[in-house]
Amino acid sequence: MSSCLFCKIAAGTIPATIVHQDDTLVAFADINPQAPLHVLVIPRRHIATLSDLGPGDDALVGSMHRTAAAIAQAHEYADRGFRTVMNCNADAGQTVFHIHLHLLAGRGLTWPPG
Ligand code: AMP
Ligand code: ZN
Repeated sequence: MSSCLFCKIAAGTIPATIVHQDDTLVAFADINPQAPLHVLVIPRRHIATLSDLGPGDDALVGSMHRTAAAIAQAHEYADRGFRTVMNCNADAGQTVFHIHLHLLAGRGLTWPPG
């Protein structure tokens, strides 16, 4: 989708600090990090919200989570712990309408979230 910020990052037309990319996913550093490690894992394909996923997307969502866990492991945060979050729509604070899995690690993360 030509107007979508994260489609542009996936296409390489807007710069980002890429930490992983493959045929279906891109992971990059969040521009406003909320933890020492804050990475966003996105599908290359434009999907606006979690509610727009179809049954054919199960493997894609699984690979987003496995990629986040692998990045946490690569940064040696797997044993300490990390959090993955996907915000959906206004009440959850979604601001970019191309699904993204937040990976947060490197500090104690409170619960419940704000
Ligand atoms: P959300 O509020 O869940 O939609 O998260 C959107 C995230 O995208 C926020 O954490 C932003 O800091 C992040 N973000 C916005 N623009 C960029 C960008 N150009 N590069 C990297 N991260 C971004
Ligand atoms: Zn998009």
